[in-house]
Amino acid sequence: MIEINKCIICNSDKLSLNLICKDYYYSQDFFNIFICDSCGFKFTNPIPDEKDIDSYYNSDEYLSHTKNKKHQPLHGSSASWRRASFFNYLYFQIRNYTIKKKYKIIKKYSNGNRILDIGCGTGELLSYLKSKNFIVTGLEPNIKARDFAINNHNLDIYSNDYITNFKDNSFDTITLWHVLEHIYNVNYFLSEVKRILSENGTLIIAVPNNNSYDSEYYGKCWAAYDVPRHIYHFNQVTINRLLAKFDFKLIRKIPMLFDSFYVSLLSEKYKTAHPQPALKLRSAGPAPCSRQSQDRRREGEETAPPQRGGEGKVNYFKGFFIGLYSNIRAFFNKKDYSSLVFVFS
Ligand SMILES: [Zn+2]
Repeated sequence: MIEINKCIICNSDKLSLNLICKDYYYSQDFFNIFICDSCGFKFTNPIPDEKDIDSYYNSDEYLSHTKNKKHQPLHGSSASWRRASFFNYLYFQIRNYTIKKKYKIIKKYSNGNRILDIGCGTGELLSYLKSKNFIVTGLEPNIKARDFAINNHNLDIYSNDYITNFKDNSFDTITLWHVLEHIYNVNYFLSEVKRILSENGTLIIAVPNNNSYDSEYYGKCWAAYDVPRHIYHFNQVTINRLLAKFDFKLIRKIPMLFDSFYVSLLSEKYKTAHPQPALKLRSAGPAPCSRQSQDRRREGEETAPPQRGGEGKVNYFKGFFIGLYSNIRAFFNKKDYSSLVFVFS
């Protein structure tokens, strides 16, 4: 594990424990989120060694989402088939909408057609941009995703450390869609981004925002904390502070309206699941999400090891409502959007 002793933005060593979050997605382990007392920046601490982080990604599940399953046979009852088809259909509709929205942002703010997408996954966005006459390059740390992108879309994709091989001023636009929060050694990485971006180049960064209503409502169950895969937990102030260190100026911010729904529905699922953590408790004593399980722990009752999946029925309607309410609050400037795209120059 890597312990972070100084704030990566302001270098202060005055750091306090802010939250203890659980990795609901994969390991079911608990991780601390610290806050810098000087600048308010939040980050997971300690974090797994970089060589171990791959084991926290379920890459098979990740990949299976990216392939179009329309013509593959699905097993199970007709009801489960219909449900799976519906979610697949919804997934691909939203993905296509998102790709087109990203394209519009890129087209509007780019001063040239050489683009680098960092964390390009299986390359769907780059493939679309290529069809719109962009000269596209990608970086992707996951080898399976990278191979998929190379073999299926015939793209130039490299691992993240390849960034040092690009010449100065190689790109007119660099994009990081929900990627910056995952990157180890982010100060060095951003200095490389600055170096390879042309002088009037555009940097587009999308990150979750912990100053949103859905973040406040779900607290430690907020799905976008996504520990330990998310190392940094930004808000508008902290991301601007970090990018200002590299002379980037914010020119526009754009909300990603679907993200609040997705994050709230997932958070609702996590909140309902609250597997009992007794056997994996660390000395800090992470608190589960529900009052009931806190009471059980206080009474010293022996509890079962964590189980994946839910104990109760997930209230998806409520998740949808919280996502909607989060967007409404942000629209009226009461809170921030759950997820924002920042355009820097
Ligand atoms: Zn700080």
